[in-house]
Amino acid sequence: MKANKNIGCTVNECKYHAKKESYCSLDHINVVKHESRATNQEATDCGSFEVE
Ligand code: SF4
Repeated sequence: MKANKNIGCTVNECKYHAKKESYCSLDHINVVKHESRATNQEATDCGSFEVE
């Protein structure tokens, strides 16, 4: 897994996580929201997450 230093991530349960480093290995991710209007950080998430 090659770390993409442009996408920091601490979700090491994800199959795209770079593991030894706190980065994503994808070239691009989708950030999504769970509410029609996001008003705080908890309303957003990584839409590219996949469990290992
Ligand atoms: S896909 Fe999302 S959750 Fe998974 S490692 Fe990349 S940024 Fe983190």
